[in-house]
Order: sequence, then C-alpha cells, then structure tokens
Amino acid sequence: MKISEILERNKLTLSFEIFPPKQDSLYDSVIACADELASLDPDFISVTYGAGGGTSANTVRIASHLRDAGVTPLAHLTSLSSTKEEVHAVVDQLKELKIENVLALRGDRPKDPDFVPPGGYEHASDLVRDIKSRGDFCVGGACYPEGHPESAHKDRDLDYLKIKVDAGCSFLTTQMFFENNILYSFLYRAQARGITVPVLAGIMPVTNGAQIKRMIELSNAYLPPKFLALVDRFGESPEAMKQAGIAYATEQIIDLVTNGVRGIHIYAMNKPDVVKRIVSNVSDILKEAR
Ligand code: FAD
Repeated sequence: MKISEILERNKLTLSFEIFPPKQDSLYDSVIACADELASLDPDFISVTYGAGGGTSANTVRIASHLRDAGVTPLAHLTSLSSTKEEVHAVVDQLKELKIENVLALRGDRPKDPDFVPPGGYEHASDLVRDIKSRGDFCVGGACYPEGHPESAHKDRDLDYLKIKVDAGCSFLTTQMFFENNILYSFLYRAQARGITVPVLAGIMPVTNGAQIKRMIELSNAYLPPKFLALVDRFGESPEAMKQAGIAYATEQIIDLVTNGVRGIHIYAMNKPDVVKRIVSNVSDILKEAR
C-alpha cells in the first residue's frame, strides 16, 4: 500500500527504520530484526540505502522481504554519487517488485571540493522528479527541523524543502531531534511556507554513550541539558543508559502524540528489543491515537 493512502486513513502512523547489513553474512540477522519489528504492527518499515556497494542491493532485498511478510516497505534511495543508469536500475527493480514507496534522498556530499554528481542529481528534488516520471510511486523526502548542516540559513533550507515537496513528495520524515519544541517551531514555519504534506517525527532512542558521540558529529542536533545530564550520569553504565534512553524517547513520543503530530518514526538502529520496550510503554496511547 502507498504511505500516502495510509496517512489518509490513519490519524497517527507508527513506523520504524532499519539499515541493511554491511556484510552479506549478517543478512539473516537483519531479516530477523525486521520480522521482530513487523510483529509490533507498524504502518511501514523503512530500509536505508548505502551509497554504492552491497548494501544498496540489500535495501531492495529487505524491502521485498517486508512486503512478502505483509508490512508496507519504504525503500530509501540516494542519488548524488550515482549515474542515471544506476538510479534507474534500482527504481525499475522496485517497480517490478511492486515496492511502491521510496524515500528520495540526495546522500551526503563527498569531501572532494571538485566532486561533480555523475548522474546530474544535484539535489534530492531532482531524484523526486525522476522517480515520479518512472512509475506510480509514493515518494517521501527528508527534512531537518534544525536546518540541514550545509544550509547557511534555516529559511533558505525551507525554500528548498518547498521545491522538493512541490517536485512530488507526499510526506516528509525528520532528522532526529531531542527537543520537541524545535519540531513544533519547524512545523509552524513549514506550514507558513505552504508545506502542507504530513511530517513524520524521527525519534532516535539513544541507548549507549558511544552512539551519542557519533550522533553529535553526524547530525549537529541540539542536546537539551536534561538529556546531557542523563548521559553524564548513566553514559558509562550500559543497562542504566539503555533504560534512561528508552524513557527519554518514550517521553518525547507521548508529548508529540499529545500535540498532534502525524507520525512517529523510530530509528530502530536494528535493535528490536529497544523498540519493543518503547512501543510497550506507549501501547494504550498509540491505540487511542491511531
Ligand atoms: P536535499 O533535499 O537535496 O538537501 C541537501 C542540501 O541542499 C540542503 O542544505 C538543502 O537546503 C540544499 N538544497 C536542496 N535543494 C536545493 C536547491 N534547489 N538549490 C540549492 N540548494 C538546495 N543518507 C543515506 O546515505 N542513506 C539513507 O538511507 C538516508 N536516509 C535518511 C533518512 C532521513 C529521514 C534523513 C533525515 C536523512 C537520511 N540520509 C540518508 C541522510 C541524507 O542523505 C543527508 O542528510 C544528505 O546530506 C541530504 O539529503 P537530502 O535528501 O535531505 O538532500
């Protein structure tokens, strides 16, 4: 089913994100994780896309497995470092496999200042148009409540987001954030720009100290004092940090649902036990709100 149809039908969606294995030998463990997450009754599960190499083929394989297991898959696809032929081959394969939902992403820009995109995909909006022109896909895009790291100004980032949505996005999924007010302010500014497609809130449960360091480097996310205090206190105690991270994500989700967000998208990090505990914490809330 198309995610746009699910969004029309449900007041609130619940979805998870997994990533393909870096080595094929780990494929079965990711499938086991996907199956465990599928048992939590999500509206869809998304599968990330590594730029080039074996993981990109596994994105399609895992999405196909999810579809066979009765869960709506959302296949991510990046374009910046790919040729048109490579992108078209993946899109045509998705079409053949009846995978109807694609998250169209630019991908991170290589450090080389002289880099020229081999397929001419400068921005994700170029990919959105291309996917739409090749079939009846439901296409989503990424958005950044705190602004994309390359963006000099948040307003300019929103101008480009509007172009991407107008190119054919039916929904947006946010980058992780740890302060809900940042999302509410973003939603308000996006609405004012005429961006009216549903925005799904990306929630990252932070369950270990090393993950936090990596996350800060990658996303530039603002970490509220309450969050930092918790990491400071429990970061070195794996079980305690896991429990605290689950509680923090739970609290964020309750507040987001209370304030009427359209979707909760949990970055599952291939840890179904963590997602299970969060979903269990909010089971009655989700039942009422979905
Ligand atoms: P764009 O929408 O193209 O935006 C990138 C930058 O370009 C922004 O600064 C924007 O303001 C600017 N821009 C956009 N359009 C224009 C324009 N017309 N003119 C000038 N500037 C413009 N990466 C992966 O490799 N694999 C994944 O599976 C993956 N999944 C992700 C899922 C989510 C929900 C998110 C939030 C990110 C994901 N990423 C993934 C990371 C993503 O590829 C990077 O954040 C990348 O740097 C930007 O991708 P984008 O699609 O947002 O790009």
